[in-house]
Amino acid sequence: MGANINHHYQEVKESYLFAEIAKRIRTWQENNPEIKDKLIRMGIGDVTLPLPKTVVDALASASMEMGKSESFHGYGPEQGYDFLREKILNYYKNFSVDLELEEIFISDGAKSDLGNILDLFAPGSVALVPDPVYPVYVDTNIMLGNKVIFAHSGEENGFLPMPPKGEKVDLIYLCSPNNPTGAVYDHEGLKAWVNYAKENDAVIFFDAAYECFVEGNLPHSIYEIPGAKECAIEFCSFSKKAGFTGTRCGYTVVPKALIRGGQSLQKMWLRRQTTKFNGVSYIVQRGAEAVFTEAGEKEIQGNISYYKENAKIIMETLDALSIYYTGGKNSPYIWLKCPKGMSSWEFFDFLLEKGQVVGTPGAGFGDAGEGFFRLTAFSTKEKTKEAMERIKKLLEV
Ligand SMILES: *Cc1c(COP(=O)(O)O)cnc(C)c1O
Repeated sequence: MGANINHHYQEVKESYLFAEIAKRIRTWQENNPEIKDKLIRMGIGDVTLPLPKTVVDALASASMEMGKSESFHGYGPEQGYDFLREKILNYYKNFSVDLELEEIFISDGAKSDLGNILDLFAPGSVALVPDPVYPVYVDTNIMLGNKVIFAHSGEENGFLPMPPKGEKVDLIYLCSPNNPTGAVYDHEGLKAWVNYAKENDAVIFFDAAYECFVEGNLPHSIYEIPGAKECAIEFCSFSKKAGFTGTRCGYTVVPKALIRGGQSLQKMWLRRQTTKFNGVSYIVQRGAEAVFTEAGEKEIQGNISYYKENAKIIMETLDALSIYYTGGKNSPYIWLKCPKGMSSWEFFDFLLEKGQVVGTPGAGFGDAGEGFFRLTAFSTKEKTKEAMERIKKLLEV
């Protein structure tokens, strides 16, 4: 006898998408040294603009506090400091959502909590995951030996899958606005999911990482839907909103009204966090707090507008070429149908070789992504314009 390993790790598929992209770029550069600098990357899944000045100032002054005995901070509350939770609580009021402070948990980002949340559910649970999808949802379930069922999405439903009929699942992943498709649910769409979850005693994991891109009357939070507090946990992040991808801070909302198996999931999550997590750094939480100041909000809106301008340039190009796409409007992602019936990887090679533009093949996000392609708004305006001019020239009849 010795250590028995978790064999489910062998069942997780090798994530070859970004490695394969890098390999194809390298090969192309080696074969085309004279034009290799013309390459424009439109596949970036990370923000590119620096942290807002208001945030940097807050980080700096919190760092200075840590160097003085009268303002030093050691271990903080595992759930996060109240100064930040209060700001988040107030932010939700913008969407007419009333939360309690104890329902908000500060995290080091949405990705960790999206994986960790499975601690609260029995191994062998059945998870419903949209296809195409952010790969974290699938892999975290496979690692625990859970069963994954895919909810197919495509042109027929605008890449917004609806609840299955006559099928029961335990856990449901929704991401709106979606990565990779940029598609966003309206209130009606989310209501259908809330109803399904309540009928089946399922729990929805709502990934709101891109809520800051939502416009108009579309929902920012699943709690805008009546009854959602009884069936949904929401994950959000400062990563895409405020450029925190490398700084690390997010929040998870577990409502007190969420009861399964006679137990409060809010209490279970608190127990889980106080046991396995020691909180986000005081400095980073002060930086996140600055996101909600008037100056911070203004700077962040400026950054989001910049990305949205890029998205608009991409959308105008696709409109002119009559290419089907989702996203762009409420999202930094534009998910387009590969022209001329090309597969995802055929279009990748075509764009790289003929236009020196790099995007992400949709097939890398799941079977339903085949024949589609993701462009992102995270490049510079100049490069986005140049890339779109090249694509126009290539595809114009
Ligand atoms: C970027 C992203 C996140 C945020 O992850 P962090 O860990 O907070 O940086 C969560 N979900 C999706 C779908 C994302 O694309």
